[in-house]
Amino acid sequence: MVCDKCSCEGVVLKTVRWRDGDRTFVLCDPCFGPLADSLWIVAGPVAAHGRCRVCGGWSSVRELVEQKQGGKWDAPSGVCQECLR
Ligand SMILES: [Zn+2]
Ligand SMILES: [Zn+2]
Repeated sequence: MVCDKCSCEGVVLKTVRWRDGDRTFVLCDPCFGPLADSLWIVAGPVAAHGRCRVCGGWSSVRELVEQKQGGKWDAPSGVCQECLR
């Protein structure tokens, strides 16, 4: 998960959308704070993400295999479905 505004990475970021628009994006807490009045928080289908050790991408923990705890940012790490193929 990468914050759309500052590009920082985090295990759990807020999924939000503008109150007058349909586009959703993700924000970290520091970026969300000042914008809270203009945004709705969208309940995401996935609460926790893990890091793929092969491609470095974020994936739902349910889609990662060979998981290990304690990766970068304390996120679980594993291998995503894309890299399994
Ligand atoms: Zn941010
Ligand atoms: Zn991968």
